[in-house]
Amino acid sequence: MIDRTEIFPNVIEMNYQARKRLGCCVYLVFDGPDWMLIDIGYEDTVAEIIELIRQMDFALANCKYLVATHADVDHIQGLKKAKELLPQAETIGHPESLRLLKEGDRIVTYAEISAQDISIDLPTISLDRAINEGDQLALGSKSLDVWHTPGHTEGMLSFRLGNLLFCADNIYRDGCVGNIDAHHGSDIPAFIESLTRIRESDVEWLLPSHGPPFRKDNAQLDSTIARLDGYQHMADFGTCAVDWPLLDEWEDEVARGVLPK
Ligand SMILES: [Zn+2]
Repeated sequence: MIDRTEIFPNVIEMNYQARKRLGCCVYLVFDGPDWMLIDIGYEDTVAEIIELIRQMDFALANCKYLVATHADVDHIQGLKKAKELLPQAETIGHPESLRLLKEGDRIVTYAEISAQDISIDLPTISLDRAINEGDQLALGSKSLDVWHTPGHTEGMLSFRLGNLLFCADNIYRDGCVGNIDAHHGSDIPAFIESLTRIRESDVEWLLPSHGPPFRKDNAQLDSTIARLDGYQHMADFGTCAVDWPLLDEWEDEVARGVLPK
């Protein structure tokens, strides 16, 4: 038996619990005997995580949900193995995550980044159920609200529990956001909408999928949103931009015969 390290009431995060960095954040939410996991991380840490959970005196048979915030390999590579160890848990995620994991899409999930010689296993899995905006996840006497927050990727979900928002890869403590990449289905206007929704909400704490939880800070969100707004009109993220004013200026200069000076 080991003590439970609750970072917030009813919330344990497995890197904090293990007191070492295992990978992405793996949140265990519980109420009474019932518990669930938000993301599971890479396959090679699944056994260690589930053993820690057992040692914290959670009955493995009481895991209700294994949630995929989205289908990126660093969040869900271990999902198939976790489902084998926790067969009664319902595997759930956005319909787009369901499709990517069923088809084993290696590009959108980042299992394959050939230009960087990255090629890792992506065990395919058919999620038990698709969830989406407006759904609620019942857990004991509590309930988590499902938010669809696309931007980093189309299937990104966040989960609200009282004053906490499990915000996945929307924003981190340093104001960075989940990476923006056309091959990953990133959408900057959608990202700005998701961040604006988080900003306008009355949640108090953000629990991201990488790095530490932190207090929601509207000034920080404003600065992140302004940065992404700039990206919409810059070449930096290629086809993820909505326009590039320099080319309009150049077209006009070419038409008027203005030469470099
Ligand atoms: Zn991530």
